[in-house]
Order: sequence, then C-alpha cells, then structure tokens
Amino acid sequence: MSRFEHKRVLVLGGSRGIGAAIVRRFASEGAQVVFTYSGSEAAAHQLASETGSSAVRCDSADRDAVIAAVRDAGPLDVLVVNSGIALFGDALEQDPDAIDRLFAINIHAPYHASVEAARRMPEGGRIIVIGSVNGDRMPLPGMASYAVSKSALQGLARGLARDFGPRGITVNVVQPGPIDTDANPADGPMKDVMHSFMAIKRHGRPEEVAGMVAWLAGPEAGFVTGAMHTIDGAFGA
Ligand code: NDP
Repeated sequence: MSRFEHKRVLVLGGSRGIGAAIVRRFASEGAQVVFTYSGSEAAAHQLASETGSSAVRCDSADRDAVIAAVRDAGPLDVLVVNSGIALFGDALEQDPDAIDRLFAINIHAPYHASVEAARRMPEGGRIIVIGSVNGDRMPLPGMASYAVSKSALQGLARGLARDFGPRGITVNVVQPGPIDTDANPADGPMKDVMHSFMAIKRHGRPEEVAGMVAWLAGPEAGFVTGAMHTIDGAFGA
C-alpha cells in the first residue's frame, strides 16, 4: 500500500508504544517519516532502521527544541503529536515543577508544534494530537493534571481548526482509552478497575490507535476537523 507515498510525516514521541505503532503504520504505507524521542535511544534507532524512518532526539518539554524539530522536518504533510506523560498521586503533595513539566509536554508542545507545522503545511495537511478519553471522563482520583492536559487539547483542536481550515488543513484529537503500552500494561495492577468501566473489557492495541490516526491523515478525512475521536472500548460512554 502506498497511500502516503511522497508524504512527509513527523511523529513527536515515536520511539515506543502508540507512537511507534504510528511510525510503523505511516512507514508501511510509503510515507517519509521522522520521529522524535527523548530517553529511549536504543528503541528509537532500532525502529528507525526497521522502518527506514529518521529518529531525532528532542525533549518535548523544551518548547524551542520542539519548534526547531518541526521546522527542520518540514514542510510537513502530517504532524502527529503523541509524546505525553502521566503523573499519579495526591494533588496536595505533588511537586509543582513536575506538574508544570507535564503541562509543557502534554499541552505546550502540541500547541507550539501545531502552529509551527501549519506555517509551511500545504493544502490537505493534517494535524493530529493524541489526547485521552480522560479529557472527557476522569473516574479516579490522583490524575487531575493529566485530565487537565488532555482536556486542553480539545480546545486546541477546536480553535486551530478554525485558524487553519480555510487553508484545507485539518486539526483533530484522537482520544484512546486504556492501550497496552509500557505506560499502561494490559496486565498491570489497575487493569480490572479500568476494564470495569468498559463495554469491551480489554486494553486496546497501539496498532488500533495507529489505524485511526492513519484514517484521519488520509484522503477520506478531509471534511473531519476540530473534532475528538475516541477509541476506548466505551470507557467514556
Ligand atoms: P509510553 O510511555 O509507552 O511512550 C511514550 C512515548 O512518548 C515514548 O516514545 C517516549 O519517548 C515519548 N515521550 C515521552 N516524553 C517525552 C518527551 N519529554 N520528549 C519526547 N518524547 C517523549 O506511552 P503511550 O504509548 O502509552 O502513550 C502515548 C500517548 O498516548 C500519550 O500522549 C498518552 O498520554 C496517550 N494515551 C495513552 C493511553 C494508554 O493507555 N497507553 C491512553 C490514553 C492516551 P522516550 O521513551 O524516547 O522518551
């Protein structure tokens, strides 16, 4: 398949988990893929050689580095912002610097990367950010900062869709529920609690999320923008 042949795709945070599945999906469909990573150098190099993509070290907490990475990889046909972290714990006890770092990675990076990508993005361009069903529903204590950050992406998509829509660029959020990755293993201690909220009582697979991202990036989705696309086994229903 070569749906994305000659398309330049940048995935922020592509070395592991959902991001790596997105890299594989675009590469398998012919795209020229660049992805960033922060700590997982060996995994990044392995993925790059496996897929023929390029790996660039860039900390998504560093705003100027993120903007430079987007600029250097462009002009982009598709930007996917996947890098994201979660913090768990008592809101009254959490380190404010750690919370601000989470906001930098989960909110500021998607915003600045999206704006920078749009500067040179051609008509038909696609901006896709990975949010979370926790942007809609947060059924447990201890993750308010994460929920804040994923709700913020909804405003990003609604607002930037208006800004870039006249140029034929779409802006969308993909909102996964529990997905089997290092961050949320399918056999982790919270699995039964999470599955109790769901109609399909299993973790999703990173490849399932990548499939939704690929559809949003493809030619059939040109009328889809400013929207949230939930893939969660009805966690949020
Ligand atoms: P993982 O922790 O398994 O992987 C995270 C990826 O993001 C890695 O490639 C990591 O790279 C990269 N990353 C993290 N921090 C940074 C940073 N500061 N700079 C650059 N890259 C970074 O997470 P998932 O695959 O599970 O999650 C991916 C996205 O999906 C996140 O936005 C997450 O919030 C969201 N999500 C995940 C769900 C789940 O259940 N798994 C559910 C809902 C949403 P490296 O290791 O090189 O630092």
